[in-house]
Amino acid sequence: MTDPITCPECGGHQGTKLGDRFLACQFCGGLGWVGGTNEPAERGHDKEPPPPPPAWEHKVWADQWISAQLGCRYCFGSKQIAHVDEECGQLVTVPCVCVLH
Ligand SMILES: [Zn+2]
Ligand SMILES: [Zn+2]
Repeated sequence: MTDPITCPECGGHQGTKLGDRFLACQFCGGLGWVGGTNEPAERGHDKEPPPPPPAWEHKVWADQWISAQLGCRYCFGSKQIAHVDEECGQLVTVPCVCVLH
């Protein structure tokens, strides 16, 4: 038993905001503090650590978050944009600027 302290992992915020989801801190179990009756998962003896989320579920979160944060506003993820070539006056498809970055 130790005195409760603010969780060093989440800084007392109880987790991390991930897009429109909220991931509860795995270290403190989403309480924002550790110690006392809430031992960190790594040192807990009388409390099973929470199981990690399924890999596919974690991947879906990451994809949604990435597309929400980094979605290209020019090509909307298609990686190509229509462009009128000034010289020949034809509509051509060119790689989007996001491909180059
Ligand atoms: Zn925490
Ligand atoms: Zn793009």
